Amino acid sequence: MEDSFPCAAPGCESTGSKLCSRCGKAAYCSAECQRKDWKVHKLQCQKAETPENRISDHLAKGQLFSAQEALQQLEKPNARLAAELEEKLKLGILSEVIADRLSLQPARYGLGYVAAKDLSAGDPLLFDTAFCSAPMDGDQEFYCTIAEKSIRKGHADRRASARVDAQADFYYDSLLKLCTKDSHDRATLEGTEMEADTREQILVCSIAEANSLYCTEEPNFAALYAAGARFNHSCAPNASIESSRSRLLVRAATAIPKGMEVTISYLPPQLLSEAVGFAVGVVVAAQRTHQWRLAPDRSEASEIRRRATPPP
Ligand SMILES: [Zn+2]
Ligand SMILES: [Zn+2]
Repeated sequence: MEDSFPCAAPGCESTGSKLCSRCGKAAYCSAECQRKDWKVHKLQCQKAETPENRISDHLAKGQLFSAQEALQQLEKPNARLAAELEEKLKLGILSEVIADRLSLQPARYGLGYVAAKDLSAGDPLLFDTAFCSAPMDGDQEFYCTIAEKSIRKGHADRRASARVDAQADFYYDSLLKLCTKDSHDRATLEGTEMEADTREQILVCSIAEANSLYCTEEPNFAALYAAGARFNHSCAPNASIESSRSRLLVRAATAIPKGMEVTISYLPPQLLSEAVGFAVGVVVAAQRTHQWRLAPDRSEASEIRRRATPPP
């Protein structure tokens, strides 16, 4: 610290040895003097344009991808900002449309993402954090586990902060608005006189089955992403996904002109390109994977109903 400035608080004769952390310009002798002078100083205190402040801004806005990129470019690692990023990633309630490249619009099948500007191959488009995830080889179907976890998280008495709670509520509400596996599920459910929580279990289970994505980096897991789930499927997708149990990154796979829908494949890429010569087990897994997003199957839907309904 420079120690040649006088304290900026009026009437103080001491040396200003501490700089205002926001602007880095005003110097004070003590925190007390800084507090006393804040009413006046705040009128001219401008946040300095430092890389650290930019990262703080991204974090405050929930732009975790941008924060992560900027953190990696710092010359000196910053443990405090890295810890704050990790904490926000773990919440699983934040997503970022990167550089305003996408907009959510009515598409061929319900809502879908459309290129908001001309995109180049490799452009990162959307970053999302998983609301919940589950192993695909667990004791029960992964979507039932994801549904149970989602309901618990959606109703948890969180109270970390009002802001975090509101965002978690928003994420859970967004999940509840996603399409169900069988388009009749929602209508059927609304017409029945079952208990509200049974109804919710069946609904979330159907949504988890229809919208969970496989994890490319952890092939035994599937995860439910509230923002990522809005991509529609194509067998010839123009975007690709990198996903884990906790985060998802969608990139343009080709150049995409402004206004065109951006699609992903709900299937692992190797299943699209190598249709022939597969081990039987993999094909069965593929068909099942395909089913959970694409082909509503009534017998399976009633199976979920049975499973999600507690015994009388
Ligand atoms: Zn002072
Ligand atoms: Zn200042």
